Amino acid sequence: MIEIRDLHKSYQMGKNSLHVLKGIDFAVKEGEFVSIMGSSGSGKSTLLNIIGILDEADSGTYTLDNVPIKNLNETIASRYRNKFLGFVFQSFNLINYKSALDNVALPLYYQGMGRKERMERSMYYLEKVGLANWAKHLPSEMSGGQKQRVAIARALAADPKVLLADEPTGALDTKTSYEVMELIQQINDEGKTVLIVTHESDIAEMTKRIVFLKDGQIESDNPVNQVRASSYV
Ligand code: ADP
Ligand code: MG
Repeated sequence: MIEIRDLHKSYQMGKNSLHVLKGIDFAVKEGEFVSIMGSSGSGKSTLLNIIGILDEADSGTYTLDNVPIKNLNETIASRYRNKFLGFVFQSFNLINYKSALDNVALPLYYQGMGRKERMERSMYYLEKVGLANWAKHLPSEMSGGQKQRVAIARALAADPKVLLADEPTGALDTKTSYEVMELIQQINDEGKTVLIVTHESDIAEMTKRIVFLKDGQIESDNPVNQVRASSYV
């Protein structure tokens, strides 16, 4: 599903250059549930943003579902994002003046789906995340965990090939974090390929494979039952 070879990425700041990703080799098969771990500033979000076609590497190759991702203009990048990827962020990124249902439906609107199908599908995904009774509510009336569930429903609504989540539990308390991770586990159990970024070992251990980033490289990459993420912290 995802294949990355010798990926490099630097950020330019004036005359200085910060080499963040220094030759990343990484592949994810369909149906996998992978976490990218590492300390703050280790390049986790940079890598996830490249995988999410929100940013581009300086060199190396990336193929997504056998499609080479390189030098795309914004129209094509946006088409690929819509077709292949669902995003979940730490800060939920919901639209505050729209109901939960309308938030979930918005990406479907941008894809040109008709209103009836849009609403039916959005309701289906709200039910899936346990929020059928909250469809008409605004984000401001919901808890952090509920908001993240809406964001997950929105990410799933177009049935993407891969769900990408950058610190999906970063703004949640411990109990709510586990509940949201259990939902993400369920989504993976149903077959979705899931890639999350986290700096928390407890969260990473709820996935099936932990890729540990350090100094711009992959320090380790192991199935969860063979590694204790906490041993790195
Ligand atoms: P993580 O998600 O692991 O905390 P990031 O990928 O966000 O790390 O950042 C890696 C490094 O790159 C950090 O030192 C960060 O300050 C720097 N960085 C991230 N984004 C930018 C940017 N747009 N411009 C310049 N430096 C950046
Ligand atoms: Mg980050």
